[in-house]
Amino acid sequence: MSRSTIGNSELISQVNKRLVLQAVRVMQPTFRAAVARRTGLKPATVTVIVNELLDQRMLREIEAPAEPGTRFGRPPLMLEVNGDVGRILAIDLEPDRIRVALTDLLVNVLEYRERPIDRFDQPEPVISHIVKMCREVLKNTPAKQLHGIGISLPGQIDQERGVLLSSTNMPKWHDVPIAQKLEKELRAPVTIDRSLHLAALYELWSNPEQMDRSVLIISLRTGVGLSLLHRGQLYRGKKGLSGEIGHCVVDINGRPCECGSRGCLETFVSASAICERAREMIKRGSGKALAELLRRKEALSPELIYRLARDGDPDCAGIVRDVGGYIGIAIANMINLLGPDEVVICGAIDTAENLILAAVQDEINRRALPRSRENVVVRLAKEKDKLPLLGAAVLIAQDTFELPSLRHAVPDEFGEPGAALVAT
Ligand SMILES: [Zn+2]
Repeated sequence: MSRSTIGNSELISQVNKRLVLQAVRVMQPTFRAAVARRTGLKPATVTVIVNELLDQRMLREIEAPAEPGTRFGRPPLMLEVNGDVGRILAIDLEPDRIRVALTDLLVNVLEYRERPIDRFDQPEPVISHIVKMCREVLKNTPAKQLHGIGISLPGQIDQERGVLLSSTNMPKWHDVPIAQKLEKELRAPVTIDRSLHLAALYELWSNPEQMDRSVLIISLRTGVGLSLLHRGQLYRGKKGLSGEIGHCVVDINGRPCECGSRGCLETFVSASAICERAREMIKRGSGKALAELLRRKEALSPELIYRLARDGDPDCAGIVRDVGGYIGIAIANMINLLGPDEVVICGAIDTAENLILAAVQDEINRRALPRSRENVVVRLAKEKDKLPLLGAAVLIAQDTFELPSLRHAVPDEFGEPGAALVAT
């Protein structure tokens, strides 16, 4: 959208429409009067916009639940967003796993597939798997209903060109034009973003109260990433390169990291580092319960270690406490540096959640400054390791609900972005 292609009044109408849609989404089911209060739009303006959105089937009306004592008369009508009006395809490429979901416009998951992959694989076979999984979940969706495809990627990307530049955890992937390849196969527009930023995007989408707060999101998956939300804005850094907390050095004499440095946080807490520590433990003659499971052909994974730790195995519990401790040190540093209200951990750690969170909290208490750590809540994300996948769907859904980029689109005479538009 630009000044040359769109008139002021049309832009204002689009902005107001999105304000209304967003307000209904966040409060639904809700009344027109509440929408007017939240958006600051006049009730008459809300009525016009709501009628238009009802005609377009973007909104629908439902009867309000009957209140005790009101047996007669028609119940008042409330508004909700009609998520069924469109579909979104979301893909999460993690170095050792592919997840694919078909969602409605409200990012409710309708179909889901996942499969493991080898992070040392070449890109082509992995992309073929992604295409196959996408076709499966799309088989009952007419092409015109699909609003777009969002994909969550590890490592560093060029978002504009849709290219995965590199990923320390996927050493064979260099300059892969993944958006273009998927667009060619799936015949729909593809938008890419980094998994750690998408985790934050979903956190914001699903918890509107985070709009007023500073929140750190730590992604503890194959690698480790960090995102910072501040008053509804995602901090991305230069070219979106922020968040590589996994490559912050925590031991200058530590083990070599796949990034070329030494003693990075990932050399202690990444999935491969956790498995490596377990193997060493078994070599030393401890970890008998784990060794027995491996002998019975169970695959070694952090989840297996977490499970044994939860069930009381002291050796695996030791590994889990150490992992939590290192994450806690990194989080304590970030609390000192950034002063967040809340820290959300995303990852499949729920089986050992209590052990890990206790170790994290111990390090925060030990290392973060008292005033900085005061009232900081540390919790596991409800969606565990699916945050980036759902964030990839939000990447597409936000085109419908979020405001267009006012900074570039609004002529200067409007002054502060948004202010004059809301008063229309
Ligand atoms: Zn590193």
